[in-house]
Amino acid sequence: MRIILAAAITLLGMGQVGSRVYAQDSTGSAARMVQRAVVERELSALADDSMQGRMTGTPGAARSARYIAEEMAAIGLIPAGDSGYFQRVPVGRLEGSGQLILEEHLAPGAAGALDRVPAVNVVGIIRGGDPVLGDSAVLVDANYDHLGIGRPVHGDSIYNGADDDGSGTVAVLEIARAMRAGPTPRRTVIFLTTIGEEVGLLGTRWFVSHPVVPLDRIEANLEIEMIGRPDSLAGGPGRGWLTGFDRSTMGEMFARAGLPIVPDRRPSQNFFMRSDNIAFARRGIPAHTLSSFALHTDYHEPSDELSRIDFAHMTELIDAAARAVRLLADGPAPHWNPGGRP
Ligand SMILES: [Zn+2]
Repeated sequence: MRIILAAAITLLGMGQVGSRVYAQDSTGSAARMVQRAVVERELSALADDSMQGRMTGTPGAARSARYIAEEMAAIGLIPAGDSGYFQRVPVGRLEGSGQLILEEHLAPGAAGALDRVPAVNVVGIIRGGDPVLGDSAVLVDANYDHLGIGRPVHGDSIYNGADDDGSGTVAVLEIARAMRAGPTPRRTVIFLTTIGEEVGLLGTRWFVSHPVVPLDRIEANLEIEMIGRPDSLAGGPGRGWLTGFDRSTMGEMFARAGLPIVPDRRPSQNFFMRSDNIAFARRGIPAHTLSSFALHTDYHEPSDELSRIDFAHMTELIDAAARAVRLLADGPAPHWNPGGRP
């Protein structure tokens, strides 16, 4: 998740439904689709010190991408990148400032001032089985990059990003696995993990201009970000909140199905605008982020690491997210509520 300056935020004055009480999770007694042992194995790999904090353009990020691609292959997703599961994202480092940018954003005539760095999104799909709806798609995504190696705190200089957003990356994989284990979805489902979020949504921006399915066929986007710890304002373990809940009918769909997903209780943080979902929302796709980030103080610190993760909570919430994606893949498409589209 990115930090944005308060001054840059446009508040749209969306109403909250904080006082509404939703039915208990009616799916709670259903068989759990997501396995805690697998969640632990995957997050242990992605948040390991050997991944060096997964900074865009580094060997640690490349190693993480290979790990995600291997998992996608084992799950049985169809590769949807331009080289297997990898979608190359042309990122360069500006000489001088060191800033990472998309090459296409370099000012004309400034060529030569940019050092290319390796960067890929990792993307796989499940083809929809419905003869009509199969041409439309649902996008499930998270960013796998993080902050790399930086200023040491208490002797630790690796910013592991276990919660931000290793947890969401694992969720994308495990939602895919749960879906593969069930009936073929009616719509095509795209499972995307992006690079470069922390440095300006680079992977997502590239994907938006080079989508693996035309954007006008993507009917919904669910992003998963920071679900590694419970949030008491969401109701505690196993529960999460959806950014921009009232902006579209997606949140209401989840609530009606009894999923443990409530409106974002911290609208002043403007989380709807702070992650990859916003790039898709601005293109008209109902797009929200599922999270349970309770503003913990390990945010963007080396201490965002595995030992702080509540795996029982995380597994339960991924299970809920898998049910949510099933609704999006098989049910009616969500649409914007009046005034909700950014
Ligand atoms: Zn972040």
